[in-house]
Amino acid sequence: MNPDTPFGPQGLTQIIEGNPVATLVIDAGHRVTHWNRACAILTGVEAAEMLGTQEQWRPFYPKPRPIMADLIVDGAMESAVDQFYGGKFRRSGVIDGAFEAEDHFPHLGADGRWLFFTAAALKDETGRTIGAIETLQDITARHRAEAALKESEERYRELSRTDALTGLYNSRHLQECLLQEVERARRHASPLSLLVLDADHFKRINDTHGHLEGDRVLQALARTIGNNQRRSDLAFRYGGEEFVLLLPQTTGAEALVLAERLRREFAAQEVVPEQGEVIRCTISIGVSQYQPGESPRDFIRRADAATYAAKARGRNCVVGAD
Ligand code: GH3
Ligand code: MG
Ligand code: MG
Repeated sequence: MNPDTPFGPQGLTQIIEGNPVATLVIDAGHRVTHWNRACAILTGVEAAEMLGTQEQWRPFYPKPRPIMADLIVDGAMESAVDQFYGGKFRRSGVIDGAFEAEDHFPHLGADGRWLFFTAAALKDETGRTIGAIETLQDITARHRAEAALKESEERYRELSRTDALTGLYNSRHLQECLLQEVERARRHASPLSLLVLDADHFKRINDTHGHLEGDRVLQALARTIGNNQRRSDLAFRYGGEEFVLLLPQTTGAEALVLAERLRREFAAQEVVPEQGEVIRCTISIGVSQYQPGESPRDFIRRADAATYAAKARGRNCVVGAD
């Protein structure tokens, strides 16, 4: 007993019991010597079931394996990092010689818990390890709040780059993607193509059927694009009735084939309004393939010009850029 403290083993037990943080202690033989009330509440296992046993793993894992305190007793922390914790633990910044980690325990409680745990060696006066103390804190609520925050940030980001009417990406996101894809095409010297699609005589459709029906035509066009795009293709609503398809790993010749398919499919489509006549709409499409050294702006400008040329040719057609 430390002559400076008036507490014997009984006092030590009371100190550990009085700690509101879940705490367990094992001896050099890996037997549980202390398992405080907070630990019983956290794990759902009473001290009486644990004291004197080597079953400290049981509340945490489906089958026997060392808990952090066991690794401390064995002096095996460094070598156990990857084997048992996948590199997730670190030296404690608070307690000298202690280690700490954060992990998910799917078997703990009804639907798993996240724990922050710290373990430190207990040593005798000669410096020999005679046991280890481990504390466990339930950080599930914090983890869930963080996950919820991340999800809502993710959702917000998705919304900020999505066009509300069609669900396609918006033009702001096009600027980002265009830079990225051009950069990628340059780096890998891979083909990159682009379609600019513009609905024909759309003002007339609005004038004849009303703006709401016009909106439904734009949604139908977005669906046609969506049905024909590959996973790596990126579709944007560029402006009011203008759309852009960015096609990585695609040559101009391949892009022309896709454009022609889109043109034909959409022209054959009928949009049935709430009342009145069936609406038919066509699109004019300009196609450009990225040319080495060209700026993203010129890349899109050439497709735009091709779309104008398609309009000039009488609309409902596809024109490849020069
Ligand atoms: P062109 O064949 O030459 O492209 O003729 P256009 O009438 O389609 O072209 P113009 O640029 O003159 O008109 C575009 C029309 O698209 C006018 C505008 O009211 C309509 N428009 C733009 N955004 C929306 C939208 O979100 N919903 C609806 N319903 N109409 C829109
Ligand atoms: Mg237009
Ligand atoms: Mg138009």
